[in-house]
Amino acid sequence: MSGKVGFVSLGCPKALVDSEQILSRLRAQGYETVPTYQEADVVVVNTCGFITPAVEESLSAIGEALAENGKVIVTGCLGARPELIQQAHPQVLEVTGPGEVDRVLAAVQRVIPLDQNPFTALLPPQVKLTPRHYAYLKIAEGCNHKCSFCIIPKLRGPQKSRDAADILFEAARLVATGSKELLIIAQDTSAYGVDIRHRTSEYAGRPVRAHLVDLANELAGLGAWLRLHYVYPYPHVRELIPLMAEGKLLPYLDVPLQHASPRILRAMRRPGGAESHLKTLQEWRSVAPDLAIRSSFIVGFPGETEEDFALLLDFIAEAKLDRVGCFTYSEVEGAEANALPGAVPQEVKEERRERLMALQQQISLEKNQARLGQTLEVIVDEYGELPGQVVGRSKYDAPGIDGLVYVETDGTVKIGEIIRVRITQAEAYDLHGEMVGRVAWKPGVPPVGNIATETLRV
Ligand code: SF4
Repeated sequence: MSGKVGFVSLGCPKALVDSEQILSRLRAQGYETVPTYQEADVVVVNTCGFITPAVEESLSAIGEALAENGKVIVTGCLGARPELIQQAHPQVLEVTGPGEVDRVLAAVQRVIPLDQNPFTALLPPQVKLTPRHYAYLKIAEGCNHKCSFCIIPKLRGPQKSRDAADILFEAARLVATGSKELLIIAQDTSAYGVDIRHRTSEYAGRPVRAHLVDLANELAGLGAWLRLHYVYPYPHVRELIPLMAEGKLLPYLDVPLQHASPRILRAMRRPGGAESHLKTLQEWRSVAPDLAIRSSFIVGFPGETEEDFALLLDFIAEAKLDRVGCFTYSEVEGAEANALPGAVPQEVKEERRERLMALQQQISLEKNQARLGQTLEVIVDEYGELPGQVVGRSKYDAPGIDGLVYVETDGTVKIGEIIRVRITQAEAYDLHGEMVGRVAWKPGVPPVGNIATETLRV
């Protein structure tokens, strides 16, 4: 965890908005707001200087914070008269004026330097590249597998999972600051917690196990869309599917299967084959018929024969996956697979990729056509080129990799809203539709100690 900040907010609604902005920025930088002076590493007092009683109240609040904690940063309207504050309380660390959010942040950072730990400092605002309404939530780093085409375990080391509470606090912060969709990622998301023996950590006064099922159940309480990426096809993934059927997780699984020929999968050091993949998919779909499955495949792996590839094409035809990515094998320096015999010429790799994608395009079109007339919830990512048009994604589509939904609206829809859309047109990858309603956004209640409002004295 990064540092803990206590916050006292005085004054009018404009000062309150300043407080909200400061608190949002502090949270986005990984600081935690705490409800008592004793827990805080530093206290920020947002003051009022409008009338004499307000000045007196502000000076008194600063005095109280100094007596109780000792490290105090003052901001707000009274901050415009620093001499008054310094005369009464020379120990204050810094005085800034109203709306000087950056100066307050800089002052806090001087007292509690930003956390450099990559796990606990995942989302400083300078590097958050996603829009406000969705965010990636990294639950572990590294990987314990030894897929022969991959050097990630060499680069990033074995899997290191974060404690469940750490992840949940970050998720609560993200939702509190506007994220409506959390994309859960790791090198191998389904192995989350194995390396720390699924140890428990305390969140909201109760122990939570570092296990994907427990974590998903807790995250569901935040009310955001939860999307799972990079799920290695372990047998225990079946435990997650009922959560999708219950609506706790989005009915979406990104499971990189890589191939369907058991011989190639063995050479890749990956599990399964066409038969077991199909059995698993059938099992998942029997529990959550709505499930959208995304997968990626490598063609032209060393030793891949036309028979191996035909097996993969048969699998694609039968599996009817919702989304498919296909890559031609390329040598990564240091990967064991480079030493395998039977290198496939580049033009053969390309040709196999094109055949696979042509087949999948047809499947994808049929799947999209089945959506005609349905009403889907769509999260709005951006404005379209036509008047009133917005572009978003349904629950079955992840940002950046899956299809889009182009929606005609009445022109009042904002980015980040979730709307209801009747589908009127289907293409191989994208859908078109018209807005028929809005979905009220009801975020869950973050736990005590993690939200700013608990520390506000307004
Ligand atoms: S491909 Fe994925 S699961 Fe396999 S070693 Fe690389 S990171 Fe791990």
